[in-house]
Amino acid sequence: MAKYIIIGGVAGGATTAARLRRNDEHAEIILVERGDYISYANCGLPYYTGGVISEREKLFVMTPEKFNQTLHVDVRIATEATAIDRAHKTVTLVERKTGKTYTESYDTLVLSPGAEPVRPPIPGLDLEGIFTLRSVPDVDGIKAWLDMKRPERAVVVGGGFIGLEMAENLAHRGMAVTIIEALDQVMAPIDFEMAALVHRHLRDKDIELRLKDGVSAFEKRGSRIFVKLASGDEVPTDVVIFSVGVRPDTKLARDAGLETTPQGKPGAGAILVDEHFRTSDPNIRAVGDAIAFRNPLSNEVGIVPLAGPANKQGRLVADAIVFGDDQVPAWKGAIGTSAAKVFDLTVAATGLNEKVLARIGKPCVSVIIHPNNHASYYPNAVPLTLKVIFDPQTTRILGAQAVGYDGVDKRIDVISALIRKEGTVADLCEFEHVYAPPFSSAKDPVNMAGFVAENILQGRSKVVSWKQFEELRAKGAFVLDVRTREEFELGAIPGAVCIPNTELRHRLNEVPRDRKVLVYCGVGLRGYLAERILRQNGWTDLYNLTGGYKTWSAAV
Ligand code: FAD
Repeated sequence: MAKYIIIGGVAGGATTAARLRRNDEHAEIILVERGDYISYANCGLPYYTGGVISEREKLFVMTPEKFNQTLHVDVRIATEATAIDRAHKTVTLVERKTGKTYTESYDTLVLSPGAEPVRPPIPGLDLEGIFTLRSVPDVDGIKAWLDMKRPERAVVVGGGFIGLEMAENLAHRGMAVTIIEALDQVMAPIDFEMAALVHRHLRDKDIELRLKDGVSAFEKRGSRIFVKLASGDEVPTDVVIFSVGVRPDTKLARDAGLETTPQGKPGAGAILVDEHFRTSDPNIRAVGDAIAFRNPLSNEVGIVPLAGPANKQGRLVADAIVFGDDQVPAWKGAIGTSAAKVFDLTVAATGLNEKVLARIGKPCVSVIIHPNNHASYYPNAVPLTLKVIFDPQTTRILGAQAVGYDGVDKRIDVISALIRKEGTVADLCEFEHVYAPPFSSAKDPVNMAGFVAENILQGRSKVVSWKQFEELRAKGAFVLDVRTREEFELGAIPGAVCIPNTELRHRLNEVPRDRKVLVYCGVGLRGYLAERILRQNGWTDLYNLTGGYKTWSAAV
């Protein structure tokens, strides 16, 4: 009878234990969890804080008792694994409440210890009223504080998805919320001009957003916390959610001498695993937020701390342990497909963004479009912004990002699936979708992004990003606005000349032939139409602004 021990009882660990039991009815399976709960919904914690999820019990997918009854797994909560003796294949376990310490032997050990919130050495970070959020006790602490103190003001430090979800939920409870972010944008998985749409929405929702300003200290004066910023500013608040990222929780693994990623990089200390989640010890495997694996698009080894990969890895590792590595598909790496709700917006991304591509020196071209979520003539159509990034040589899709009110997740899911299948721009064009007016348009936004990209690849169109546009404009390019005069008068790019695209054929003599020409419209489509007219009349040094004025005005 095989004996399996799993360390960590939430996303990756609980899935592994459940699948192991389904695969091997006779094995002895022990699930060890330091906390008091297993298999709970970390992802629901911000919504429980805000009262959107009102019943605490809803957070628990399984209780230890139910897990034991249904799966006959020996669940040991409030028990910490403190050491691994690899030579003797034993783990030291400490019962948190009694201090009782004992060892347990294993045939195979699976580590799913997750990640912990990053806590840099900022003076005052330990003050009462400053919280991080990872677990049920964390959320209990935050809720108790909010219920007791009824704070009016909250500061969220860090504009990642947990920070933004918490900002929304604190605002939902009636608090005035300030987000402090050291970078120039929130939501690191998306590029700046996409994040700019989120910035605008946050401000519309009365969230104070302080970008490019890090926290230097926290100070308590009277009943208030003062958040001191690198700029010298100070933000008074009643409560702070500190959420600047996570790092793999791998002390146990590192102390046991398992191979981990080097220090000094994001995700440092993550357990290195192969495509069957084998660590550097053949009897120990690892899954979830704690592991590092090669990103199939960038080839960089790193962490992807998301619930989807952790759950899928749990299933695969259990199959590999029981049936053998050669009987199980190899893990190909996660590409970071994720979404977050930010008030009324959905923000989603998959694959690589331009920032990462620039860092690794991989050439790419991006297109930005602003189509409606479904047929514009059907009620409640709303625009979404979709950015697709591709490799101009291979035409392979490298990444996509979307921001909008409806239909965002479905487009990113589709593109994620295409990327996983090594899809190209042609696959975007050919993607066959469901169409009826309430759901999409005859040409879905995914197709439209493909068509724009295809025009570029075929040399029918040349696009520039808002950043390239600004560089060329500063160098004296002629800027042509082809929107209507009314639109132009409501706001335009400085120095632009307005020739509506409907008049362009008769006013070609007003467009210089001896200068670079930058053309733009509201979202990019009329700019492309004007570009086609000009190109077929002899203009070659001609570029359309991808995403049009809508993207430019959000980003600049
Ligand atoms: P965890 O689920 O964190 O489980 C690790 C467990 O191991 C912990 O309970 C810990 O106590 C235990 N442990 C660690 N060391 C030991 C030890 N030595 N002995 C015993 N036990 C130990 N992901 C998404 O994809 N979408 C979302 O919307 C989303 N929202 C999130 C919101 C919040 C607030 C948080 C905190 C996370 C969110 N995530 C989301 C991330 C997701 O929860 C994680 O990616 C996922 O839980 C990782 O699974 P894991 O098994 O690696 O770690």
